[in-house]
Order: sequence, then structure tokens, then C-alpha cells
Amino acid sequence: MQATSARAFDTPHPDAAPPDWEVVILGAGVSGIYQIKRLVDLGVKATVLDLSPDLGGTWYWNRYPGSRFDSESYTYGYSFSKDLLDEWHWTERFSGQPENLRYLNHVADKFDLRRHMQFNSKVDRMRWDEERRCWHLHVGGRDEEITARFVISAIGLLTVSTPPRIPGMEDFQGGSWHTFFWPHEQVELAGKRVGVIGTGATGIQVIAEIADKVGELKVFQRRPNWSAPLANGPISEKEMADIRRRYDEIFKTCEGTPGGFVHEPDRRGFYSVSREERLALWDKLYGSPGFAIWMRNFREIFTDEVANAEFSEYVAERTRLRVKDPKIAEKLIPKDHGFGWQRVPMETSYFEVYNRDNVELVDISETPIDRITKTGIQTTDRHFDLDIIVYATGFDAITGGYDRIDIQGVGGAKLAEKWKDGPSTFLGLTVHGYPNLLMLAGPQSNSASVNYPRSIEICGHWITSLLEQVRERGITRFEATAEAEQEWTNHVREMYGTMLMRKGKGWFTGYNSNVPGHEHGRTRYFVYNGGNPKYQKEIGRIASAGYRGFELS
Ligand SMILES: Cc1cc2nc3c(=O)[nH]c(=O)nc-3n(C[C@H](O)[C@H](O)[C@H](O)COP(=O)(O)OP(=O)(O)OC[C@H]3O[C@@H](n4cnc5c(N)ncnc54)[C@H](O)[C@@H]3O)c2cc1C
Repeated sequence: MQATSARAFDTPHPDAAPPDWEVVILGAGVSGIYQIKRLVDLGVKATVLDLSPDLGGTWYWNRYPGSRFDSESYTYGYSFSKDLLDEWHWTERFSGQPENLRYLNHVADKFDLRRHMQFNSKVDRMRWDEERRCWHLHVGGRDEEITARFVISAIGLLTVSTPPRIPGMEDFQGGSWHTFFWPHEQVELAGKRVGVIGTGATGIQVIAEIADKVGELKVFQRRPNWSAPLANGPISEKEMADIRRRYDEIFKTCEGTPGGFVHEPDRRGFYSVSREERLALWDKLYGSPGFAIWMRNFREIFTDEVANAEFSEYVAERTRLRVKDPKIAEKLIPKDHGFGWQRVPMETSYFEVYNRDNVELVDISETPIDRITKTGIQTTDRHFDLDIIVYATGFDAITGGYDRIDIQGVGGAKLAEKWKDGPSTFLGLTVHGYPNLLMLAGPQSNSASVNYPRSIEICGHWITSLLEQVRERGITRFEATAEAEQEWTNHVREMYGTMLMRKGKGWFTGYNSNVPGHEHGRTRYFVYNGGNPKYQKEIGRIASAGYRGFELS
């Protein structure tokens, strides 16, 4: 695809005005930044709309103390520019939110991408126009309608935060925030009585970070999560120079591993080695950096209940060794799911927090929260006086962002209605009935189950190649067929069938007690679990077969 071709704007109706944009991208996070770079390089008339005041998505918002990567920083950066790789120094093995945001800004500035972005531009309605073969997008706030031949949605998977639904929340007179909306200004924590509700990935990060900075910390836990040491540390100039030398090799490894990380699974079978050998491996992995504990493990940990139970008990035992009070230790060990059935948050001295005198674990499965009061939290047992409440209660994951846009496809059919019991897609990239709409990190793609940017570069490249073809061939409309969508959705379901994750009550299965309709653990087939190499093969196969499964016209 060279410079913007007139052909790409051809419409079936010669009188119809061409759309305002050839491509509109929704979202200026990791995905949107990558996608606009690719399209600008090709001379496509494209713009990015983002509801946020600035770029960065996840890393613009989640500024709570302790917010950082579980991915190795140097595997999270983009791989497309050697120049960029050579000049950026990641200062920590798992870098924190401020550095991550600095990185994304650096990328946007380096490639002059900001001028292609419009902020404070929330798209709240999208309507497919069959006659003109384009999308009408309503930009709320400034109440403007714009048109685009193609829309690429890059609205993220953890973009809609879900505060809990507890009576009295508006009465509280101290400071209270969902972690996603942590203030940009410094929050004074010294001497404060702080309550944190939630012990998922964000809760674990924030609790560990603030425990020694606050006066008192009350942790309100309903269900514990499995967690293991992150083993963060600085990256010296020398190490960074070595990483730079090895970038090609590092990205090649990520491309070939199921999770898109540098961690390769242990090739030996769980049952083909002795218990002593298993323990030796686990002793090595516990405390190794990042997701090693999960991703360098035996494959059976993900699929076989007996193997998973043995490993879960190993992690439980390690947890018991770190928490002085055995009763508290037991409360911190999950009993209703095995290790890795849900996304495993990594921690830094999290369990030791409960050995501190200023920290109390409040088990709200035993004594639930009744209400938030003017001065704190009332459980069925007692009142906790607090100055600050932190809601670490997660996200309406994967489809939440889509549900909040009124997307009307062919014949006015609403996407939210089609997906009310769970998404169905073709390749996690497109949806039947919604022509010319592509999704980056969409539901049923591999993005949520993979080191994110590694998947984004693969999917973004695939999308760019499709648009290139479409342009070259003068195609103004493409749509996944119903059959292709059904086949893919069945395939995604089958994959869940092989993974213990299907039994988890987390966001991989669409469970969230704070989202109406998602409370009861009805399994939603949200993510592609076949692993990074298989996903690449699947989408590559479709492209090489001339986009089989699409109607192009
Ligand atoms: C605390 C935290 C830690 C994480 N750690 C890791 C990690 O270690 N490794 C990893 O791989 N992933 C991690 N993730 C996942 C993370 O979300 C992705 O890595 C990545 O940042 C997502 O990028 P994105 O561009 O797809 O989406 P986002 O960053 O969510 O960006 C989406 C953008 O779309 C905009 N948008 C949404 N709806 C609309 C609309 N209707 N109109 C206009 N704009 C809209 C939003 O404002 C946002 O700016 C983490 C997530 C969180 C929350």
C-alpha cells in the first residue's frame, strides 16, 4: 500500500461523499500507538480517537502505588525499530507505571505520532452505513459525527474499572479511589488509616507497596489469590547492553513460547520425573524472576488436576513459611481453585506484610461488608475507622469497553446484544455482521493470555496486511462469514476444555461480581488459550488462503 489511493475511497454509489477517514483507530494505548505507526508509514489517512486526556491507556491511568509490569520490561517494548531498542534503557526488570508511560510517550514523540491522535474523544456510538460502506462514529462530549471506511478498535481489555456495589460509598468523607483512578497528585499516606478492598492483581501490588508507609492498613479480602515472588531488580548499563545485543534472540524466544514470554515450559512430563525432581524444579522456580514459576513449569500444571493440586500444595507450603500466624497464612491460601486457574499476580514481599503490627487481614467471606459509612467500613462484625479507602476491585474485562459503545452493525444489530452471553468472533479480530471493523486485542484473540505487545505486533501486522490487500484490490467491504465465526468460537471453547482455567472464577472466564450479569460465573469464552505459536499459525493460515472466511467485495 503506497500513498492513500483514490481507489480505496471508491464507493458503490458514485454520488456518495467519501468518508472523512480511511481508518479510525479507537484507543491510544500500546495497541493504538503500534497500529497508527504502521498505517502512517503506509500513508493511510488515519486518526486515533481516545477518550482519555492523553496517550498510554493502561499506563496513563493505573497510577496507584506499586503499579508495574509482570512482564519483563525488555520483552514488553516494541520490537519494530532497532533505533528505539538501542536507545531505550529499561531501569528495572519489571518496570513501574511512570517509566512505562514515559516509554510510550517517547515512542509517540520519536515517531511523531501525537499529531495523528485526538484526545478527550470518546466514541459512544458507531453505526454501519451499508450504502456508503462506512462507519459513522459519534464522538461524545463534542457531539460530532465522523465517518471512516474502516475502524480498528484498540480499546483495551482492562479499560473499564469496576468499583464494588456497596451501600454508602458516596457517604465516605475521606479519600477513596478505584486503583484505576488513583490521583495524579501525590497522595499523603504517612500516618493514615487505609483500607484496601480486594486482593487480586492490583490489590496485591498496592498492599505490598503501602504497608510500611501508612499508619494502619486493613485489608478486606473475600477470596485469596495464588501469588509468588516477582523478583524485581534494577537493570544496570552493562545488563542493558547485553539485552540490546540479544534482542533478536529474546524476541524469537517470545515468538515461540505459549505465553509470549522469555520463559519456555519444562519439556519433561510431570509424570515422567520423580517427586524429588519436581521439587527441585519448583525450588528453582520459586523466586525466579517474573512468570517463571508459571511458564517454566510442567505443561500438566495447566491441564491436569492431580499435577496442579500437587504444585498448588507446594506453593501453599511456601506461603505458610512466609506468614508467621498460621491462621492468617491459611486465609491467604486459596481453597476454591488451584494455582494458575486464574491470572496469577506476582508479588514483592506481599505475604510478609501480614507479619507487620500495623496490618490486619479482615476476612469478609466470614464477616461481609455491610456498608461504607462517613468514617470508614462497617462489616457484620465491627466498624473500621479509616482515612482512605482503596477499591482494588478490577475491571469489566475483555468485553467491557465494547459493551459501553452502542455498536450497530448490518441492519442495526447491536453488538452488545449479540455478545450478552459471551463474545463470538472470527480469530478474535473480526465479527460477522460488523463489516470493516477490526479488533486489536479483541475478545477471543490471544492478547490477554500472552505477553501483550508480543501479540499486538502480530495482530497489528496481520491487520495492516489485510488493509493493504483490501486497498490494492479496491475492496471497500469485508466481513467475516457466520460459518467462520462459529468455527473459531467453537475452537476457542474447545481450547478452554483442555485448560483448568475453565474452572476459575476470574476474568478469563468472564466472572466479576461487580458487573451486572457476570456475577454467577457463567463461563464466557473470552480468550484464546492455544498459545502464541498456534495462534500465529491459525491467523497466518487464513491470510495465506486469501482471507478464507471473509467475504470481500
Ligand atoms: C495494572 C496492570 C498491569 C498490567 N501488567 C501487564 C503486564 O505486565 N504484561 C502485559 O502483557 N500486560 C499487562 N497488563 C495488560 C495491559 O492492559 C496491556 O499490557 C496493554 O497496556 C493494553 O494496551 P491497549 O492499548 O490494548 O489497551 P489500553 O491500554 O487499555 O488502552 C485502550 C485505550 O482505549 C481508550 N478507549 C476505550 N474506550 C474508548 C472509546 N469508547 N472511545 C475512545 N477511546 C476509548 C482508553 O481511554 C485507552 O486509552 C496490565 C494491566 C494492568 C491494568
